[in-house]
Amino acid sequence: MKRLIAYTTTRDMTAKLDPHRDDEGTAFVKLARYILRRAPGLRAITYDTALRGAHRAPLIADGLVVFTTQHGGLAPESLQRFEDGSCRHDLYVAEGRVCKRLITDDGATHYTPLPVEELERRESKRTRFYHRLTIPCQVKNHTLRIRVDETPEDREIDPSTKRQRFNRTEHLRQIPPDTHAGRRLKGFRQDSESQHSRFDQSYPHKRVPAYRANAALLIYIGYAWLSNSVARAKITRTLAG
Ligand SMILES: [Zn+2]
Repeated sequence: MKRLIAYTTTRDMTAKLDPHRDDEGTAFVKLARYILRRAPGLRAITYDTALRGAHRAPLIADGLVVFTTQHGGLAPESLQRFEDGSCRHDLYVAEGRVCKRLITDDGATHYTPLPVEELERRESKRTRFYHRLTIPCQVKNHTLRIRVDETPEDREIDPSTKRQRFNRTEHLRQIPPDTHAGRRLKGFRQDSESQHSRFDQSYPHKRVPAYRANAALLIYIGYAWLSNSVARAKITRTLAG
């Protein structure tokens, strides 16, 4: 007789077993907007890679600076050709920011990030954000502004691909992750991230051995209970000492 072993994680729980479930990013957007309505002074939010451009876009339009680590595996995309007098510069988006494409003498393509001088914020019905950029050039240094919030034109459907024209908030980040500011903001992610990581690592293959969603949930609650108990015991001992 075959013995079936089901391994599941929270992400594997099906909608049928857990009808109230949202994907993590959607749930986060709802939660962030709930907080923003009650705390309108909120200006910035940090989270992890679960947030993609589609999730960041509405929060950015609400006026927030949204920092998350960048999702890997995004191919560079052509953004626009910048023209000024006799100058032509082909601009691309790569690694979350605007880059100048250069072809090296051995024919390789190289994307050089353009310096972001300022993240500008302009209030309107939907808040707009811009990168004020410099294009270093032998003729003269050029400056330009590029929107880093989603525009109505971005949302139009391209008839040839049947997809949104440009997923701007996926490719262009208000704070590019691989920068000094980005590395600092990464440290502001919620402490529960390290708990999630420890939880994953405490099982072989980073999988929780459980049959179905309810059983998995029981393990998660048990883990949270244990974790909180350890924290409580340590704090109690510290206060007593
Ligand atoms: Zn130039």
